[in-house]
Amino acid sequence: MDQADSRPSVVAPCKHCGTDTVWLQMAYGDWRLFEARMYPTEESAAGNRFAIRRITRQVIDLEDEHEARWPAKCLQLHRFHCPASHDDSLFHQRRPRQPHDIDLEDMWRRLAERKQSQRRAG
Ligand SMILES: [Zn+2]
Repeated sequence: MDQADSRPSVVAPCKHCGTDTVWLQMAYGDWRLFEARMYPTEESAAGNRFAIRRITRQVIDLEDEHEARWPAKCLQLHRFHCPASHDDSLFHQRRPRQPHDIDLEDMWRRLAERKQSQRRAG
């Protein structure tokens, strides 16, 4: 797969509910439609807790990580909030890619800072 293909899509409103969403590539290779905002990890439903791996900028399922390493905030799949988008989210359409990480850069930076402070504390 082309390396450039791992760039996130542009943030765009869901055509069903208008929520800002973004396509991100999972570390496992497939693409998922996420909400373009962060949620408190503790309040998130099981199976809907994801984070961006800083180095690869791909999304990992926090359920696969040790709980102690979970960030305070996480990404969530949009289809959990918007069942109407479920059919859309099954297939990743070729959305335009961001030339730079304009909308998500801050999210990634905060995730990285959170990880670093956890390392210092541990
Ligand atoms: Zn929606």
